[in-house]
Amino acid sequence: MTNGGNPQQVLSRRNGFHRLDGRDAQADNVAAARALSETIKTTLGPKGLDKLLVSSDGTIVVTNDGASIVDRMEIVHPAAKSIVEVAAQQDSQVGDGTTSAIVLAGELLEEAESLLEKGLHQTTIARGYTLAAERARDTLDERTIPVAPDDRSRLRTVARTAITGKWDREASDFLAEKTVAAVRAIERDGTVDLKRITRTAIPGSSYYDSELVEGLVIDMESSSTTPVSPEPGLPDVFEDATVALVDDQLTIETATGQGAVTLESPEDVRDLREYEQEVYERYVDRITDAGADVVFCQKSIDDMVRYLLAKAGILAVERTRQDELEKIGRATGASPVGTVDDLRATDTGLARRVERRDLGPTEVAIVDGGPGVDQVSLLLRGGTQQVADETKRVVDGCFHVLSRAIEDGAVVPGGGAMEIHLARDLREYAANVPGREQLAVEAFADALEVIPRTLAASAGLDPIDAIVELRARHHDGDHAAGLRLEEESGRIGDVVEGGILEPRAVTERAIASAAEAANVIVRVDEVVAVTREEGEHEHEHEHEHGPGGVVESTEGYPWAVGHSMGH
Ligand code: ADP
Ligand code: MG
Repeated sequence: MTNGGNPQQVLSRRNGFHRLDGRDAQADNVAAARALSETIKTTLGPKGLDKLLVSSDGTIVVTNDGASIVDRMEIVHPAAKSIVEVAAQQDSQVGDGTTSAIVLAGELLEEAESLLEKGLHQTTIARGYTLAAERARDTLDERTIPVAPDDRSRLRTVARTAITGKWDREASDFLAEKTVAAVRAIERDGTVDLKRITRTAIPGSSYYDSELVEGLVIDMESSSTTPVSPEPGLPDVFEDATVALVDDQLTIETATGQGAVTLESPEDVRDLREYEQEVYERYVDRITDAGADVVFCQKSIDDMVRYLLAKAGILAVERTRQDELEKIGRATGASPVGTVDDLRATDTGLARRVERRDLGPTEVAIVDGGPGVDQVSLLLRGGTQQVADETKRVVDGCFHVLSRAIEDGAVVPGGGAMEIHLARDLREYAANVPGREQLAVEAFADALEVIPRTLAASAGLDPIDAIVELRARHHDGDHAAGLRLEEESGRIGDVVEGGILEPRAVTERAIASAAEAANVIVRVDEVVAVTREEGEHEHEHEHEHGPGGVVESTEGYPWAVGHSMGH
């Protein structure tokens, strides 16, 4: 699936060398980083190819999500690892653009190699790249398209751009719709608190059975939460239920440590029973007095209490996690009380529906608060656990992207249009850059075009023709000209019209990340493999981080990467 070389060889060479200097070190690092970039390049964009990932335990995952692939690759080369780290940051900060960042970093390194051959100093290249990345960010800011937090149709296009290629059009539309609805439901004054969206992936059903719940879905398999009503006659669905949340246990503290009671006579036993009975009845009275139909308890519920609650027609759920209690609170308006004795009707909330549902592999509890709640859940289905999990991953990225677009209020053209524009601008800008850095700025411009070039190639278009046409259109003032690959036959057109839009933050971060990663590698001119036997060295490097320090310690084989000192 990859062209050129055998990247695996470079990426997992454990015992290759102990020390490399100057150009050798550089060449080796660049080769490793480029091998990684070449490997995932073919997955870029909606027409990107899938990779079949086979792990050592035989699990197979098919994906074309760059972040997901590098996450699962066994990478030992320090330079390739530093690229992966940058990509991981990209993923955690903006939730998308990982492949783009890695592909661009690879291309920047290829450009750097020829600049080095021409005799440019590595620090000159790094300085030029930094200048170019800064300029690109400013230009990007000037080219943004506003997006209002309630602009559903535009947000849907942003979501679709983030997920196309993962599924077919229909599936992407379906998920774009769901994720936008979820984000809209919890958006308040232009901010999106992602903690208010819960994602649960459960296999055993079609993807299209995925549903958005205005409230909380608890997977009882993975959560400790358990309904404990012994009464078989209790219904599985409670409509318009009053919900109480108790952040405590509904049992009597067992005799431990000080104050332990020793039961010496049958009277003692009877007294204790009576005492217990009294306390438990009081608990249940508090709950019924508050008008609750369902009670979620953070800790355990005594058998007797379960029984009494069931008799009163109240569904009892024990061991509800702290965070779940809070989420149910947000879904129903209930406030958790520290002890059941404090429970009042005003502490309860209202759920449109509380339901226990058997989904095959697991049972879920659904607390549906109805419209206007501060908590939503996306219940994701898929044929197998892998599919469901992969869906969850893509959806997570999608939520991230949507929150970025909303909070920033800005998106930029995708499909390579922005990169063509930036490249054009950088070439102009380069002319004003004094010194040899100018060449690095130009090289940066050329490198940016790897995105449209790769997108074009993925759709079977001639990449050279595509770049020539795109440049010409941009020259004529068509800033939105890019690749529109949503149709069966990909073509060049107006990507804004085509709804191919990405959050400004994603494109901006991808370019900045790529420049950072490339610069780290370009600056390295010495690689020393430190073996465990060299105890003093190990110690010496142990607390060092950042430039000149340990990049990554692999099992028994820590690598030290040194930077050139003199400028
Ligand atoms: P990344 O991990 O970088 O997000 P993707 O595989 O998601 O990688 O590809 C992202 C690229 O695909 C971006 O440049 C984006 O603009 C582009 N893209 C998304 N949808 C389309 C489309 N319908 N037509 C053309 N390009 C698209
Ligand atoms: Mg993407």
